[in-house]
Amino acid sequence: MSARILIVEDEPAIRELLAVNLRHAGYVVDAADTAEAAQMHLDAATPDLVLLDWMLPGQSGIDLARRLRGDARTRHLPIVILTARAQEGDKLQGFEVGADDYVTKPFSPRELLARIRALLRRSAPEAGEDPLEIAGLRLEPASFRVLADGRPVELSPTEFRLLRYFMTHPDRVLSRTRLLDNVWGDHVYIEERTVDVHIRRLRLALAPGGHDRLIETVRGGGYRFLPR
Ligand code: CA
Repeated sequence: MSARILIVEDEPAIRELLAVNLRHAGYVVDAADTAEAAQMHLDAATPDLVLLDWMLPGQSGIDLARRLRGDARTRHLPIVILTARAQEGDKLQGFEVGADDYVTKPFSPRELLARIRALLRRSAPEAGEDPLEIAGLRLEPASFRVLADGRPVELSPTEFRLLRYFMTHPDRVLSRTRLLDNVWGDHVYIEERTVDVHIRRLRLALAPGGHDRLIETVRGGGYRFLPR
């Protein structure tokens, strides 16, 4: 079955360009011009990925992203933020609210398609994988669930994969490049700084039970997952 992509973009020319390219690539496309219209699509059918413009009339794309992350049904939905802003601060804010990727306008449709394919591949359920259990953390790949001493931990898809990579590669110094290769996959357009942003979010999510201490920063080297 084709993946369903929801485009939320108020500029008709860009919305149409995206829709044409995505349909041509074989995706089922829903398009909305406001966050409110997007919500109607979301209520009708849960998409596999959302392309979300930052600046929308009415509710902003960032507000919608935050709401998607707060709803159990859409918590793990991959979100790509589209924006004309290129400032580092805005980009970081996009990641803070739970975006998985970030594309600055004007963008190349080919680059965007490559990123969408990578995100969809990563978010595909990997059924049949056994749960991992280390140092009080339990990660269940089939159900996308993480428990810290029995308490559920809410993670975005990227942080979930990051934690899974750490748990399957303990006691090793993992460079940012290696993490990008293995957790992000097609990372030609992703900066190493992105790794630090997601590590910070992962640590925050693990902090209530003290499990953030399991992830060490190795000066000049990267990160290390140290069960203890
Ligand atoms: Ca806009």
